Formats: sequence, C-alpha cells, structure tokens
Amino acid sequence: METNWSGTYTFTGRIERPDTLEQAQQVVADAARLRPLGTRHSFNEVADGEVLLDLTGLPGEPVLDEAAGTVTFPGGFRYARVATWLEERGWALHNMGSLPHISVAGAVSTGTHGSGTGNGSLATAVRGLTFLAPDGSLRRIEAGEEGFQGSVVALGALGPVASVTLAVEPSYRVRQDVFTDLSWDAVLADVQGIMGAAYSVSLFTKWTDEFSLWLKTRLPGEVFDAAALGAHPAEQTSLAEGEDNTTKQGGVPGAWSERLPHFRIDSTPSNGDEIQTEYWIPLERAADALRAVRELGPRLADALHITELRSVAADELWLSPGYRRTSLCVHFTWQNKPTEVAGLVPAVEAALAPFDPRPHWGKVFDRPASYERAGDFRELARTVDPQGKFRNGFLERVGL
Ligand SMILES: Cc1cc2nc3c(=O)[nH]c(=O)nc-3n(C[C@H](O)[C@H](O)[C@H](O)COP(=O)(O)OP(=O)(O)OC[C@H]3O[C@@H](n4cnc5c(N)ncnc54)[C@H](O)[C@@H]3O)c2cc1C
Repeated sequence: METNWSGTYTFTGRIERPDTLEQAQQVVADAARLRPLGTRHSFNEVADGEVLLDLTGLPGEPVLDEAAGTVTFPGGFRYARVATWLEERGWALHNMGSLPHISVAGAVSTGTHGSGTGNGSLATAVRGLTFLAPDGSLRRIEAGEEGFQGSVVALGALGPVASVTLAVEPSYRVRQDVFTDLSWDAVLADVQGIMGAAYSVSLFTKWTDEFSLWLKTRLPGEVFDAAALGAHPAEQTSLAEGEDNTTKQGGVPGAWSERLPHFRIDSTPSNGDEIQTEYWIPLERAADALRAVRELGPRLADALHITELRSVAADELWLSPGYRRTSLCVHFTWQNKPTEVAGLVPAVEAALAPFDPRPHWGKVFDRPASYERAGDFRELARTVDPQGKFRNGFLERVGL
C-alpha cells in the first residue's frame, strides 16, 4: 500500500498516474468515486478515497502573461519547478511554504501558507483554475466569478485541478538571518511586533526557553534589530539533526525562490519520520494562546521535534483557515509516536479552544473548526458534483 510522504498515513485507495491530460479525463469519467492526489505531503486522510488520481506526472510548460501578471501551468507541478522557471525570467511569487517539494494544486487546496503578517496564504495568489468535472470534461473558473472564493481551498472536493493560474510580480531579493537566545518574556511582551519584524518571520521553540528566530527580509530593507530583544546571530542552522537541509542564512542576499522556503529542493525537508499538527488563531490573541499551550510544556517535550510560529494575512477564501482573520499559526512537528501524539492533540486543542483554533486541513487534528461559509461550500460542491464522485470520509468528518 502507498503512504503519505512521511509514511505515517497509509492510503486505502488505488493510485492512478496518467501520462496525459486525456488519460486523466478518462480515469475521472470511468471512476465511481475519485480523489485528486498531489505530492502526498498531508498527514491525514484528506486525500484518500477509492481511486486516487495523481496528476504530478502530466506534461506541460508554464505560460507567462506579463500584461496580466500571471503564470499558468499544470496543477501537479511542484513549487520548485514553477519558482525556478519564474526566477529565470525575472518574475516571482509573493510567498512560499517551508518546502518547495509540494505540488501547487495540493498546497492551495489545503490553504498551505508561508509566513508574513502582510502575506496571504499561497492560495491567495490563485487567479484561475481548470478543474476536471465528474464526466471528465474541463471546467474553468477565474477570479471574480461566482464561487471562485469557494473553489481555491477546496480539499479536492470540487474535482482534480488540471491547471492553475497564479499572480506573479517582478523578482525580488531576500536575506535570511537567524537569531537565538530570545526569552519567553521578550516573545510574550510583543508577539505581534516580532511576527511583523520582517517580510516573513518564523519563530521556532520547544516550549522551553530555547528559541530560534528566522527573519526573511525583503530587499532593499533594514534588518530588524533582534539584539534589542537580547537575541544573538546564529550560524547556519539546520532543521533536522545532523542534516544540512536549509536554504542559505547568515544575511546573504539571494533570490526569493532560494530564501523564502526553509528547505532546499535538493535536501530532505524537515525530519521525515514525523507527524504534524497546526492551528490558526487570531494574531491579536497570540500572547494568551501561547501562554495556554505553554502550560502543557513538559508533556509536549517527550513527543515534540519542534514548534514553529508563523503569521498569515486574512483572506476571503471560504474554507481558508485565514478567512477574515490575520492569524498566528501554531505548528507542531511531532516525532513519529502516534499513540503519544493521539493523546497530545486533544490536549493542545483544549488549551487553544478559547481562541477559536482552525486546524490546518492537511495535518492531524481531532476537532474541526466551524466555517461561516461551510453551507455555501456544500452547495457549490453539490452544484459541480451532484453525484458526490469527489467526496470522501474526511469531508464527512469535517462536516463538508
Ligand atoms: C515537510 C513538510 C513541510 C510542510 N510545510 C508546510 C508549510 O510550510 N506550510 C503549510 O501550510 N503546510 C506545510 N505542509 C503541509 C503541506 O503543505 C500540505 O499538506 C499540502 O496540502 C501538501 O500538498 P500535496 O501536493 O502534497 O497535497 P496532498 O497531500 O497530496 O493532498 C492534499 C489535498 O489536496 C488535494 N489535491 C492534491 N492535488 C490536487 C489537484 N491536482 N487538484 C485538486 N486537489 C488536489 C487532495 O485531494 C487533498 O485534499 C508541510 C508538509 C510537510 C510534509
């Protein structure tokens, strides 16, 4: 049986990997129940189903429309491929997730994000999508059309995305500086200020007094004075024991595509043998939420690799965890200890409950959030997929 990237979830369905769009259309038309599959970097059953349609092998080349400020390409492409292609031509995306290894369609379908209080999730760059309809025909929807804001973070429920159009901007340079030796007192005194200290900010902690602050400063621009918080510059820092897997740090300017992700495309991202959970809470309530999780401190330590805190700007996408809410994302990379993690997830959710947490759709969670536009989404799904070909158990579980 095939598994997700980390080997911690085993798919129950049969995977189909067509070589052409026409073959993909036929697979969709023939299947009774089908789910789109990306690069398998999610940690739960969100992508699972009877037939899993993996479109990452479909051929194609990106098409740049300079006048419109967009690029269009097959949805199964990985960010690495799109970002490299754009940078070679002097263009850029507004942001990247921690790793460039994931497919664009899979990432935007779950609301995958990078960081930056002024940056929406990766899904906010989408300007158009071409879906495979239940009968295998192509269905296009553009930004501004009715239902578009429900169609981007769609969890595969509206069908496989054959091609994606993203907004682009002129290429820019970024420097990445890492600092250590922050204290909880300094962090809690001004979480929002710290999260807004650079174009993209990540704060790593083990919930002890050990922090690592990653500032990705868009150039030209001043680097935030982290020394004023008592922090000290760090050497090149890895995010896995004994592995050199991170993009260049130490304040060396480089292309956006080689600084915004934490992990280099030629490396194994993160630890590999892991489980992830993550919750989005309102940024303005960050300090109290962090205090609440911190109370669990020693219980978390036994199963945790690392926590990462990032911020994301509010958006208008119906199922985005950032819907109308600029957020702090509280992320946990757990060791591969399913029993311990199964016990800790409800404890974290209970600690965060007063802050109305919205779980990351692609990570392990118990309690789904309620979304204001869930009813609109169900109606949209019924309209485009009246027979429920693209439904699965995950959608039932989360009430969609
Ligand atoms: C090491 C690691 C680091 C990560 N870092 C981040 C991070 O920085 N930020 C963050 O937010 N998340 C992060 N994630 C989570 C990850 O970005 C999401 O789980 C994302 O959805 C993975 O994309 P994928 O292509 O692997 O999708 P999959 O896991 O394969 O599928 C996810 C969902 O997308 C749907 N889907 C996939 N392909 C298509 C398609 N062609 N058309 C329509 N729907 C489709 C599936 O049906 C499913 O519902 C990380 C995960 C890992 C393993």
